[in-house]
This record gives sequence, C-alpha cells and structure tokens, in this order.
Amino acid sequence: MAYTYDDQNIFAKILRKEIPNDTVLETEHSLAFRDIRPQAPLHVLVIPKGPYVTFDHFAQEASEAEIVDYVRAVGEVCRREGVAEDGWRLISNAGRDGVQEVPHLHVHVLAGRGLGRMLE
Ligand code: 5GP
Repeated sequence: MAYTYDDQNIFAKILRKEIPNDTVLETEHSLAFRDIRPQAPLHVLVIPKGPYVTFDHFAQEASEAEIVDYVRAVGEVCRREGVAEDGWRLISNAGRDGVQEVPHLHVHVLAGRGLGRMLE
C-alpha cells in the first residue's frame, strides 16, 4: 500500500518544536517523549524523525541508519527509565483497525506496573 504522510499531525508539530514535549531521549533519527495521557507509570512514545506513518511504511522507506537508530532508541529508553529488569510492553497501533490516533509511526513503551496478559 502507498502511504501519504500528513505533516500537520501532532507528532510532526512536536518534531518541529511547534508544541512542547517532555523529552526522554533524542538521537540523530529518533525522539522519545512522555505520553500526555499516561496509561502506566512509565508511558513513553518513541518516534522516528522521518515522515513515516506506520511500521510498514518505515520498513519500506527508511534507511538502515534510521532503522538501527530507532530500534536502539527503544532499548535505550527502557534502560534509562530503569525498567529493563522488571519488564515493559511495546505497542504500535496502525491504521483503522489498529485504532491509530496519530498518523506518525510511534511505539508506546509501557512499564512500571504489572500490565496483565493481553493475548491468550
Ligand atoms: P495511538 O492511539 O495513535 O497509538 O496513540 C497516540 C498517543 O499519543 C496517545 O497515547 C495520546 O495520549 C498521545 N498524544 C496525543 N497527543 C499528544 C500530545 O500532544 N503530546 C503527547 N506527549 N502525547 C500525545
């Protein structure tokens, strides 16, 4: 499928510093910041700086440097926030059925409490 990136989405505005964010980590190609409506004691969103809508879009069009940077940023967030030992959950909602609210690729990092089983 072909993706069209809407540069008016809220995360694009965060990347352009048009609206503030609580940054946890910034790397060459990625930004991690706290979710405005946290669903767990730790709720961080990790986004690539490039204009990608979903993981599929990112995997198709991002450079290897961007992909490596992004995966490392997610791991670094877990280490920096002290949850590497007790654990965490990654979620990436995509498209209509995934109920994606913001059309810029993001991974939710949730941690800091028992998160329960999602899948049986
Ligand atoms: P989605 O449903 O697209 O996977 O999740 C989007 C997430 O972005 C939600 O958890 C929501 O709370 C968060 N969010 C929406 N607007 C803002 C904002 O302006 N700042 C921050 N930090 N998070 C936001």
